[in-house]
Amino acid sequence: MTVRTRFAPSPTGKPHIGNIRTAIFEYLYAKSKNGEFILRIEDTDRERFIPETIKYIEESLKWLGLTWDNENIVHQSTRLDIYKKYSEKLLEEGKAYKCFCSKERLAELREKQTKEGKAPGYDACCRKLNPEDVEKLEKGGKTSVLRFKIPETPKKVIWEDLVWETVSIRADTQEDFIIMKSDGYPTYNFANVIDDHDMGISHVIRGEEFIPSTPKHILLYLAFGWQHPSFAHLPLIIGKDKKKLSKRHGDTDILDYREEGYLAESMLNFLVLLGWNLGTTQELFSCKELIKYFDIKRVGKAPAVFDLDRLNWINGEKIRAMKVDDLIKEVASFNSNFMKNKDRDLLQRALIVMQTRMVTLKDFTDGSGFFFEDIKYDPRLLIFKKSTQDDSLGGLKNVLELLGQTKEIKSPKDADKIMKKAVASQSLSNGDVFWPVRVALSGQEKSPSPGEIMWALGLAKSKERLETAVKLLENP
Ligand code: GLU
Repeated sequence: MTVRTRFAPSPTGKPHIGNIRTAIFEYLYAKSKNGEFILRIEDTDRERFIPETIKYIEESLKWLGLTWDNENIVHQSTRLDIYKKYSEKLLEEGKAYKCFCSKERLAELREKQTKEGKAPGYDACCRKLNPEDVEKLEKGGKTSVLRFKIPETPKKVIWEDLVWETVSIRADTQEDFIIMKSDGYPTYNFANVIDDHDMGISHVIRGEEFIPSTPKHILLYLAFGWQHPSFAHLPLIIGKDKKKLSKRHGDTDILDYREEGYLAESMLNFLVLLGWNLGTTQELFSCKELIKYFDIKRVGKAPAVFDLDRLNWINGEKIRAMKVDDLIKEVASFNSNFMKNKDRDLLQRALIVMQTRMVTLKDFTDGSGFFFEDIKYDPRLLIFKKSTQDDSLGGLKNVLELLGQTKEIKSPKDADKIMKKAVASQSLSNGDVFWPVRVALSGQEKSPSPGEIMWALGLAKSKERLETAVKLLENP
């Protein structure tokens, strides 16, 4: 059997963490079984449809490398004839019926049921209409929807969920649900089943919140005489406070994370751990490894905790593990503007220095300006709090003198040696040398070490900045 999964988002908003986690599991399951991964846009809820979100869905998947296998994306709105045909079949076979109940009646019914402490649901009032009643109502201009008749049997809907094992839900918990709306569009429950069957979907992987709808789907499969696909319902994602994930916890648009400078591979790695683990202590995975190791049997039922600190850790680790040239490519695709007019060698060295401390790509593009641009700072910053103006000046001059005898700074260690020598030769303290050099080179009190910056900037630029600092201190 060919494994075929699908990602079936509703374009009602930009895709969030939860949506994309589903897509990742569908993709990995298909790819780990040499199967296909299909993209289907479920755009049948015309009231909530936001057309431009489709491009965000596509872009998010592309960014993460979740390439779909169907050349043409399936849009449900282009398949209305198909749903119509299948719904008419159910109508003809007496498995569905027209319902003329008004919104007002349904609202009243719900209110009454709630007051009586009953679960709200349709009372099957229109089930008993005979063909003459229907004709009369239609002639009178009444619009209708099509409802599926929940059959007498089976009494229980049972399936073997790949995550939840045997799930059994009483069929009478289900109301006669709508399959076709009065606007000619199918409901999610109906179109979803028709398409999963029509497209040969073997495995439906989606969030736990769809478990209550699954009996509806299975009853439809039974009504058509089709075999239903396997189901896997992924555990809920919750915040550290154990509450359902919300914007407050970071459940924002997935592309926001790209904007913040997270790597696609980190997002994949982080999101797959929201429900899956390898069963070892390994937490960092490449995409290839995920495809190799992914096993749906290792998806747990317990809610998965969304922990931003973990994402930050993963991203930092991935950044550190990268070759500097690959990291440059990532920075360039993250912010192409930043790359303009930058010396490649300096860029490389600055990145090597920053790589050990970055959490996101933004840490580099926002925090490395001093390598490339002229710096400005308050000259008082040049004096370490335990030092004096004279000693700081002495320290700077000393380093400058030593740099004058140097041909090249080969490494940060090389630069450190020079500064240590400057400390020793005039019995200064470390703070009299390292501190003013750091400020002179970076304009900041918190930065990578002065030795690293000196190496990255190179001899000429370092000298220039130290000379400026000396002048600033001499004529404050
Ligand atoms: N359109 C549904 C959603 O956006 C699909 C659910 C499913 O995978 O069946 O969540």
